[in-house]
Amino acid sequence: MVTKGELIYEGKAKKLFAADHPDRVIQYFKDDATAFNAQKRGTIVGKGVVNNKVSERLFRLLEEGGVPTHFIERLSDREMLTKRVVIVPIEVVVRNIVAGSLAKRLGLKEGDTIDPPLVEFYYKNDALGDPLITDDHVRLLKLATPAVVRDLKDLALKANRILTPFFKERKMLLVDFKLEFGVYHNKLILADEISPDTCRFWDMATGESMDKDRFRKDLGKVEEAYQEVLRRVCGTEAG
Ligand code: UDP
Repeated sequence: MVTKGELIYEGKAKKLFAADHPDRVIQYFKDDATAFNAQKRGTIVGKGVVNNKVSERLFRLLEEGGVPTHFIERLSDREMLTKRVVIVPIEVVVRNIVAGSLAKRLGLKEGDTIDPPLVEFYYKNDALGDPLITDDHVRLLKLATPAVVRDLKDLALKANRILTPFFKERKMLLVDFKLEFGVYHNKLILADEISPDTCRFWDMATGESMDKDRFRKDLGKVEEAYQEVLRRVCGTEAG
């Protein structure tokens, strides 16, 4: 049994609680959804359960493949025990197929393959709207050392090499995804979550979005898409 302590932080989609060890925290996954820098808000019923269970499965898979993560164990439908990290304020995005902001910013055609995959950095700063940054901006802002920048890219691409075939087996295209990393006892490890909130998945049979784009773009069947991701990734319905 792990005792849940005080609320440490409440974010847009998760709450963080103290655990009974100072090196650990409990992530609680909410159903709240936001998009476009929190200008659009809503609820996706059951999302927290899906994201918790999907993240558990993917963190376990990545650990087995040699990518260290903050995951320790899933405590309940909506709670996960994790290592307490200091978050690196950089969102690392990996892209295999053109979509979203990349299509808009550079005028590229949505759906085109990106080979080799692209790694992008965004400065994690809500007030600035998470701007795209280069390695030189990372150095200017002192967000990470050059060695950490190299590790962020290497680990993100390694995660992509593990995740892409896993989703392909489940008839899903891993279009792009966002990772966050943290430092734990001087070591860089994967943190946060990996879920339909933070990835784009396209159904390989129909091409339909199975992720938060259904919420962002009002495509309908949002809850159904999250449940289908859970079913394909974990082979279960949300409990
Ligand atoms: N993403 C995320 N959080 C963010 C921004 C992006 O999880 O704050 C994910 C998003 O779900 C997608 C990938 O990162 O899988 C690339 O997103 P993009 O830059 O295309 O931005 P968007 O179109 O989502 O604004």
